[in-house]
Formats: sequence, structure tokens, C-alpha cells
Amino acid sequence: RAKAHGRGRAEVFDDALRAQLTERSELERAIADGLRAGEFEVHYQPVVDVGTSTVAGYEALVRWNRPGHGVVPPDEFIPVAESSRLVCDLDRWVLGQATAQLAAWRAAAAGAADHVRIAVNLSGRNLTDRRVVDDVAAALERSGLPADRLVLEVTETVLVDDPVATEHLAALRRLGASIAIDDFGTGYTSIGQLRDLPVDTLKIDRSFVGSAEPGHDQLVALMIRAAHTFGLVVVAEGVEDVDQLGRLQVERCDLAQGWWFGRALPADQAGELLQGTSAAQVRL
Ligand code: C2E
Ligand code: MG
Ligand code: MG
Ligand code: MG
Repeated sequence: RAKAHGRGRAEVFDDALRAQLTERSELERAIADGLRAGEFEVHYQPVVDVGTSTVAGYEALVRWNRPGHGVVPPDEFIPVAESSRLVCDLDRWVLGQATAQLAAWRAAAAGAADHVRIAVNLSGRNLTDRRVVDDVAAALERSGLPADRLVLEVTETVLVDDPVATEHLAALRRLGASIAIDDFGTGYTSIGQLRDLPVDTLKIDRSFVGSAEPGHDQLVALMIRAAHTFGLVVVAEGVEDVDQLGRLQVERCDLAQGWWFGRALPADQAGELLQGTSAAQVRL
């Protein structure tokens, strides 16, 4: 009896697993098809200079306008794309869009947008692939964007785990792009390791910046000071209110990003924000 019961449970488990795998491969196919069909779109979230509240750049964040599903947020499809090579195609596409977009804004602004940088996320899977260096070089070449206007965001796990990835990052830096550690504080990198990593910018995860937990303010202050000691630029993620911004100003954080300044915008609106002089000031 116990045996029959056990088998029954195994079958239920099998069915659930099979359903999950089917759903996953269907989603993978939908992403691949959607990429070809033009269902993806890049939105741009302002990255703001903490001292002046002017737009210093944008982070390119991908959106999926999936027919019948509305706008699907990246957290629902990036993990699936990351379990196959699909994320490389997606990241390459975003890279092409974002570099071309900033080049177009620069051309339209006649010098007024020359300081603006564009940040693009690269998945860990991409970084272990030698092709990533050629992809970035090709995107820069095609768009005409100066390499020093491009920031590549990677998560800390990639940096610590994989010597091949680290080598590729060094090659990307030699091209002239800068490297940012994304979501810092959520992985296992210690502040001391920052000195030895091939990175230029530290992005403090929003779970610290927006946190009311005791000690988190001091932790953010410590991260900013340590990063500055190692010559890194610091971006605070997830700034949602003016008190958080005030603390970041006191701690001399360089840049900030978050809903207080604005959510990710479609390209045309992000472009409008760059035009004119006062328009580039966000919530001063
Ligand atoms: P991320 O790179 O850390 O991007 C920041 C995320 O925080 C974005 O979510 C952004 O909308 C959100 N955010 C910004 N300000 C605030 C705030 O004040 N409060 C709160 N609660 N959230 C804020 P999004 O766009 O949903 O992207 C989620 C993640 O998906 C990104 O995290 C990134 O890891 C990944 N992702 C997005 N686009 C791409 C892409 O093109 N390629 C790859 N590989 N990953 C991407
Ligand atoms: Mg990012
Ligand atoms: Mg982040
Ligand atoms: Mg994130």
C-alpha cells in the first residue's frame, strides 16, 4: 500500500515537472520569436548626478510587449532566457539599440548630451563567451558611439566565480567601456575585494538604499567611502524619496537612480528629458 502511495506521488511530481518544463520551453520559444517579431523594447531610466540633480546617463532596461500578455517585466523572462543562449541574443539586441539611441540623442543635442552615458546589463552567461568582446566592439563601431560613453553592468557573482569572465571584462575595459558591479551587497563580494576587481563603478543594491533597517544607512555610507578609496564611481539604486537622496548627498554619493527621479521611460520621452537645459534637471 505504501508502495502504491509512493508511486502515485512520484507520478504527480513527474507531471508537475513535465508541465513546468513544457511551460519553460514554450516561454523560450516565445522569447525567440518575439525578438524576431519586434516585440521587445528598450526603456531608459535616468541616472542622476547627486550633486546637481541633472541627468548623467540612462540605464537601458528591456521590456517585452507580449501579445495577449501586456508588458512582461524582465524578472519574468530574463531568468528563462538565461537558462539558454537566448539571453546573449537579447543582450546583444539591447546593446545595439542602446548604443544607437545614445548616438542619435548626441547628434540631436549638438554637444549638450556629450556627458551622457548609457548603461547596458550583461548576463553572466554572456560574459563567459569570448564573443561578448566582439559584440561590444561591433555595437560601438556601428553606432559611432565613443566607447567611454558605454557602461556595462554585471553582477558580482560573475566577477568572483569565473576567471574567463574577468578576462573578458578586462578586454572590454581596454576597448574603452567601463564596467559597473550591479546590485552590490546582494552577493558575496566583500568590500575589500573591490580593490582587485576590474571595475570602475559600484551600484549599491536598492535593498540597502531604501531600507529602514537599523544599520543599513551606515552600511551604505561605508560602501560609498570604501568605493571612493578604491577610485570607483558610486551609484545608489532604488532612491524612492527625498530623505534617501539627502543622506546620499551627505555621504557624497556620485550618482543615483530610482523612482524619486523617474522610472524607466520609452526612448522618445527619455530623449525629451535630455533636451533643453532645465529639462535635464530632475527633481532638484
Ligand atoms: P537591475 O539591472 O538592477 O535594474 C534595476 C531594476 O530596479 C529595474 O527593474 C528598475 O526598474 C528597478 N528600479 C529602479 N528604480 C527603482 C526604485 O526606486 N524602486 C524600486 N522598487 N525599483 C526600482 P526592471 O526593469 O524590472 O529590471 C529588473 C532586472 O532585470 C534588472 O535589474 C536586470 O538585472 C534585468 N534586466 C533588465 N534588462 C536587461 C537586459 O537587457 N539584459 C539583462 N541580461 N538583464 C536585464
Ligand atoms: Mg542593472
Ligand atoms: Mg541593479
Ligand atoms: Mg537587479
